[in-house]
Amino acid sequence: MIQTAIRNYLSATGHTTLNIKAVMFDMDGVIFNSMPLHAKAWVKAFAECGIKFSGYQVYLNEGRTGASTIDEEFLKAFGRHSTTDEQREIYHIKSGFFRQMPAPELISNITDVVDFLTKNNISRTIVTGSGESTTLDRVEKLFNGQFRRELMVTAHDVTYGKPNPEPYLMGLRKLGVAPNEALVVENAPLGVMAGVAAGVFTVAVNTGILAKSDLTAAGANIVFDNMLQLLDALPLLTKN
Ligand code: MG
Repeated sequence: MIQTAIRNYLSATGHTTLNIKAVMFDMDGVIFNSMPLHAKAWVKAFAECGIKFSGYQVYLNEGRTGASTIDEEFLKAFGRHSTTDEQREIYHIKSGFFRQMPAPELISNITDVVDFLTKNNISRTIVTGSGESTTLDRVEKLFNGQFRRELMVTAHDVTYGKPNPEPYLMGLRKLGVAPNEALVVENAPLGVMAGVAAGVFTVAVNTGILAKSDLTAAGANIVFDNMLQLLDALPLLTKN
């Protein structure tokens, strides 16, 4: 399965080798099990303004800006675009609900994955649409400096965000590696699209409630059910 995925990546990109020197991790749903909390907060916030929005839709939309998510649901529900004030208000309600929830726990076995990379001298960074500085600080602390803030790409660094390749291209620049020298680890369709558009071998780990086909359709080079499967695949993926 892995060999086939690598062959397919090489033929799609025209590279002759995949020589992994760095791994770029998404944060929500990859480092932290935060998506169930985001889903609850979004569903409650939309319900307050009379819009039905499911947890599944939250997972499908992960990575989009709040404003664009709100606008699309307004169009569907009321047949008109939302105003900037409405976008701001609903996003404010959503953030309020999210802050009332406990801090998200780490995704199972993510520390083993990161430890493997550190032991094998493979660089690591976070590429996220989030700009929550408390969460980013938590990453530095929980992983004992295995992630460094100055290498991270966050909401504050980018203009377009995922699914645009911009954040991952910026990650490559910060790490000083070429697209065929990196891996992207994502859990969301829009994030997968961003990784693939940046020309990077993109691993999807389905840590949430999406169908596997949602991640395959987004172009993931390989889809795993959990971090343990990624951990098992890493020796083969990173040997060259
Ligand atoms: Mg994510």
